[in-house]
Amino acid sequence: MNQFRLSRRPDIGNKIRVSFEFFPPKTDEMETRLWETVKRLEPLRPRFVSVTYGAGGSTRERTARTIDRILAESALMPAAHLTCIDATRETVDEVIRQFVDLGVTRFVALRGDPSAGVGTRYRPHPGGYANGAEMVAALRRHGDFDISVSAYPEKHPESPDFATDIDMLKRKVDNGATRAITQFFFDNDIYERYVERVRRAGIYIPIVPGILPVHNISQVANFSARAGAHVPAWLRERFEGLENDPQTHALVASAVAAEQVLDLVERGVGDFHFYTMNRADLVFAICHMIGIRADPAKSSLGSAAA
Ligand code: FAD
Repeated sequence: MNQFRLSRRPDIGNKIRVSFEFFPPKTDEMETRLWETVKRLEPLRPRFVSVTYGAGGSTRERTARTIDRILAESALMPAAHLTCIDATRETVDEVIRQFVDLGVTRFVALRGDPSAGVGTRYRPHPGGYANGAEMVAALRRHGDFDISVSAYPEKHPESPDFATDIDMLKRKVDNGATRAITQFFFDNDIYERYVERVRRAGIYIPIVPGILPVHNISQVANFSARAGAHVPAWLRERFEGLENDPQTHALVASAVAAEQVLDLVERGVGDFHFYTMNRADLVFAICHMIGIRADPAKSSLGSAAA
């Protein structure tokens, strides 16, 4: 084994930057869990944390409330996801202003999934923005924000081909996107080929890999195809027989994700976005394995141990 591999250097954590994604909680219990997760991950000093956004007004309120609390009770930099599903342009513009009033300067601009569910036919609102590119343009009209957009290493399921898919990414970049965050994937060769395609299309913004720790392999397998990702056979095999053994499942999941990230580091990637599913343990363990350590001044575990 080559001891000089980049991923084995003691200072590897200094070369890696992470961001974390949360979803807004629906119940008090979920809120408690989210907040425990935020507090556990905060000492890892992520570049930003993002909060997702669903269709309909209630989610809008929940996203705003979550962002407000992050701003008030943590040192984290929040990014608000924003979609154009079922909304007029005026409504989206109003939501942008609402986030700006809270102090938000980072956004993840998306089209969003149809409110009837992932995989159902998307119809733009007749008076609304139609896609991610139009959402980026709308945000740019409101201010000089940091704007992330989506990217699909295995192409979006609605795209007829990669050229159409990458053309949409190009439109988002031309309208002012700062970085793209990918849909999750498990095969790093697919990501690398995608980035090559994107660069050949003259797109030079960072394409940040979205890493999904596998909390439940069956759920991930069910969801993947609709999300535009595939679960390789070797990954299913790693979790085989662990359906009723959550502890071993979690150990395997953190090892698999750390291995994926370290391989991407070997390929020159430095930024990673983690889909946390509002759970801290796997992400914390993975970050530890890739050399990211908690700031002792902010770590409750650190002070308890001292
Ligand atoms: P776009 O970038 O507008 O389009 C995606 C692709 O679909 C394009 O590449 C394009 O080729 C194709 N396409 C779009 N319209 C057409 C068309 N009319 N004909 C042919 N092809 C077309 N969803 C949420 O609801 N809330 C969230 O907070 C959220 N966060 C996400 C964060 C990340 C990092 C990612 C990767 C996804 C997220 N999603 C979220 C899921 C996302 O909304 C869905 O994947 C959705 O189906 C597409 O949204 P988009 O912004 O990627 O779309």
